[in-house]
Amino acid sequence: PLPTGPEMFQPERPNSKGFDLQHTPTLDRIDAARDAFRAHHWYAQPLLSDDAHPDTDEPVTNPAHPQDHPGAVAPASAQDVELALASASSWNAPAAQRAQILNAAADLYEAHYGELFALLAREAGKSIPDAVAELREAVDFLRYYAANIPAANPAGTFTCISPWNFPLAIFTGQISAALATGNAVLAKPAPQTPLVAHRAVQLLHEAGVPRDVLQLLPGGPSVGAALTSDPRVSGVAFTGSTATAQKIRAAMAENLKPGTPLIAETGGLNAMIVDSTALPEQAVQSIIESAFQSAGQRCSALRCLYVQEDIADDLLTMLTGAIKALQIGDPWLLSTDCGPVIDHGALQGIADHIGQARAEGRVLKELSTPPEGTFIAPTLIEIPGISALEREVFGPVLHVVRFKAAEIDQVIADINATGYGLTFGLHTRIDDRVQHITEAVHAGNIYVNRNQIGAIVGSQPFGGEGLSGTGPKAGGPNYMTRFCAPDRQYSAA
Ligand code: GLU
Repeated sequence: PLPTGPEMFQPERPNSKGFDLQHTPTLDRIDAARDAFRAHHWYAQPLLSDDAHPDTDEPVTNPAHPQDHPGAVAPASAQDVELALASASSWNAPAAQRAQILNAAADLYEAHYGELFALLAREAGKSIPDAVAELREAVDFLRYYAANIPAANPAGTFTCISPWNFPLAIFTGQISAALATGNAVLAKPAPQTPLVAHRAVQLLHEAGVPRDVLQLLPGGPSVGAALTSDPRVSGVAFTGSTATAQKIRAAMAENLKPGTPLIAETGGLNAMIVDSTALPEQAVQSIIESAFQSAGQRCSALRCLYVQEDIADDLLTMLTGAIKALQIGDPWLLSTDCGPVIDHGALQGIADHIGQARAEGRVLKELSTPPEGTFIAPTLIEIPGISALEREVFGPVLHVVRFKAAEIDQVIADINATGYGLTFGLHTRIDDRVQHITEAVHAGNIYVNRNQIGAIVGSQPFGGEGLSGTGPKAGGPNYMTRFCAPDRQYSAA
């Protein structure tokens, strides 16, 4: 249930409607709005100062077209970080005013959709449906947190470190929760995606967030390390790999006050079970979306599909047919289903994994040839069980395991034994099995007879357990409480 009562500053607004991509005039409108930014050059610099940093500027590269540089970034220097820490100030405005400003920012985001879609395509390789979903989620975070501000004091200064795979939505989700609760925010976007973050911060400032309350510090691990080990920091929100979260926790334990909150959303080894009663067409569509949408670059994405042996051959035949129909290529084109992976480092890691599986004869079929560049063709790899996966492979690679009906409890035990617990999918028509399996599987977000990506702010708070994160879930009623100072109790005679 959503919080109600004095915390609600205004009636909650419904989730953003987004765009109807089946409607040709809407598509033409998106195309025209985006086209104005086809050759635009953006610039991201620390603290949104007006200074140029010609000596340290680095080009930002379009993952689909390495010759296209949508902009440049000046990474934050040690002095920039110090200045940000020294000047950061909590947001003293009354909660109702903070809410109003965050809602104004949501409206500005929506008004700038053409520019934001262009940025998401050229900086992060996002297809139009992905960009539409991402903008909707960002706007939903702003409005949801604005509508549900708890009656509590801010923690102080929050460091927010966000990933490149949702460079607008997760970036905005973290900072909007921290701002709604009155914190100062030092935001470090992923090194691959500083430009859209910079534009988002400009829009938040334009909406009325004071500049010393929200400061952008683009950069790599050294900036992140400085922002998670300075005693002036009162909390950290992080989304990224489990390994980095563990490093942040260690740095915080050594340098920050005990009990300083770390809100981490990390990786997953997400499984789906399809049993012999599943509706094959529905299961195949869910698998395609869960494993290959966003080129598999979601923490929530399906990595390991368990198919009951009795239907495995038929299901895999349908699935390979559906994979062959996927268009891989330029995310700017509406016909594209699967865009690029984020950069060459990612490409290499995924290609090595596929290469090893190919050498072992486990690649089910070569289903398509990717275009030149940082593209990976959707790939199916057969493995004996999820325990054969040593790491999360963050791309369009799906592992398949056949299981016998009698082995179902062992399958669940194997999935739980990974230690991760982010998303889980189940396709079955048997109600008792739904109950049994969803109770037994340890995962934050469980989806039955549908895909397992695309959590919706407010109705499907998102987050995992175990190695997948600390909670509380983003876009849910408990998230903002972690951004607040412990309760102060007053009593009066
Ligand atoms: N919230 C996203 C989803 O449900 C995933 C977030 C992530 O990849 O970090 O698909």
